[in-house]
Amino acid sequence: MSDYSMLIGGKMVDGAGELKVVNPATEEVFATVACASEAQAEQAIKAAKDAFPAWSKKPIEERQAIVAKIADVVRDNADELARVMTLEQGKPLPESQGEMAWTEGYLRHYATLSPEVKVVQDDDAARVEVHRKPLGVVVGIVAWNFPILLAAWKIGPALVAGNTIVLKPAPTTPAATMKFAELIKDVAPPGVVNIIADNNDLGAYLTSHPDVAKVSFTGSADTGRKIMKSSADTLKRLTLELGGNDVAIVLDDVNVGEVAPKIFDAAMLNCGQVCMAAKRIYVQDKIYDEMANAMTAIAKDIVVDDGSKQGTRVGPLQNRMQFEKVKGLIDSAKKEGATVTGGESDGRPGYFISPAIVTNVKEGNRIVDEEQFGPVIPLIRFHSDEEIIERANASQYGLGGSVWSSNFDRARQVAEDIDAGTVWINQHITIGPHIPMAGAKQSGIGVEQGLEGLAEFTQVRVFNMAKA
Ligand code: NAD
Repeated sequence: MSDYSMLIGGKMVDGAGELKVVNPATEEVFATVACASEAQAEQAIKAAKDAFPAWSKKPIEERQAIVAKIADVVRDNADELARVMTLEQGKPLPESQGEMAWTEGYLRHYATLSPEVKVVQDDDAARVEVHRKPLGVVVGIVAWNFPILLAAWKIGPALVAGNTIVLKPAPTTPAATMKFAELIKDVAPPGVVNIIADNNDLGAYLTSHPDVAKVSFTGSADTGRKIMKSSADTLKRLTLELGGNDVAIVLDDVNVGEVAPKIFDAAMLNCGQVCMAAKRIYVQDKIYDEMANAMTAIAKDIVVDDGSKQGTRVGPLQNRMQFEKVKGLIDSAKKEGATVTGGESDGRPGYFISPAIVTNVKEGNRIVDEEQFGPVIPLIRFHSDEEIIERANASQYGLGGSVWSSNFDRARQVAEDIDAGTVWINQHITIGPHIPMAGAKQSGIGVEQGLEGLAEFTQVRVFNMAKA
């Protein structure tokens, strides 16, 4: 029996296979997790399908109450979930605790939402009401950067809207999710929430299955493309929250001492492994050197260590593949003539890279053009407010972007033309359950959060009633 088992049809079950979960701070296996076969994925989909009719007919208040109870479970077990999260994901314990608090807050918010009903005509001829009905079985697939929060982003709205769900974490971060599964086992009726793990091999099966009505996915753009293809034959509803290469545009009227630490934090949260992290920092000529010096000074004092140790500010990268990728990007920047301060691995076990401040860098360098997803801060020089927009928008991605200035009108004017789903002024990565989150361009399709996000878990149903 593995240390953590899966939730299928209301029961914790062992897997046909097993995942060995590595602690990225030590590179040692610290737990085993049950891993599903196709037959077990089929059982999970069947359990969700069987549970759907009764669940979808429950009054929405009952479904909301169950989502609120899941929030209670997260609150009551936050310490244990955070401990396991840090062991498998690598983020410092306070960040794991923060993820649990966010998860609780998002779930509580979903528990207050109801799909909107609109009356679009009410006259002598007819009354026309637009309702939103649940879709059926939802498959939720998530990335390894915020395993529990992202799971809640799927489970909460799916359940409130009246769907049932099969959720799958990433193979390198299944442990906290399975602990969560065990804790919520009896909260919803059997089959309403099923949580299975795979070894990166069940995605196509789940997303092409004829009994699955919708896929809600958070992960890379490449996998998003594969999901579009595998779900095409059955025309599934899709929400794809994909990658990003967010700009932070720093205008030359800022107070560098105040702004530099904020941008540093926006780039370095979760070791830079955040879809909406600031990943391309454009700094205007006049303050470029001051900004580079400020960033370098902040980076020098950052404690990079095991996230379980008190005082750690930046943990390891989550997995070896990501570690090698980020090291490769740093090496290629050096070869291309950039100046890199930090960005070192000191040879100890663990996927550690110290924060890298990269100067003398521009578009055309891989470290600017590609999503680094690591502790990397490229500072790119720009001259005028007019020139910056075209450069900022020269990316396949459009998740978020920020403008920093002490002059609100000037910042707003630049912000207006950033082609991204979210644009911030004098802040970055500020999100919330009531704020719709959508990716422009290849950062995604659809919306999460808010009523717009809830609507994506529903089907429009029109009642058109003649009066004559
Ligand atoms: P990934 O795409 O490699 O994996 C994500 C999930 O997809 C995993 O659970 C994986 O097992 C699964 N998967 C793999 N192949 C699949 C297939 N063919 N069909 C269906 N599922 C499959 O992404 P990752 O490396 O785990 O995560 C990092 C990426 O996620 C980054 O690009 C990041 O920006 C993005 N991300 C986006 C958001 C957002 O809200 N926009 C949030 C977090 C992360």
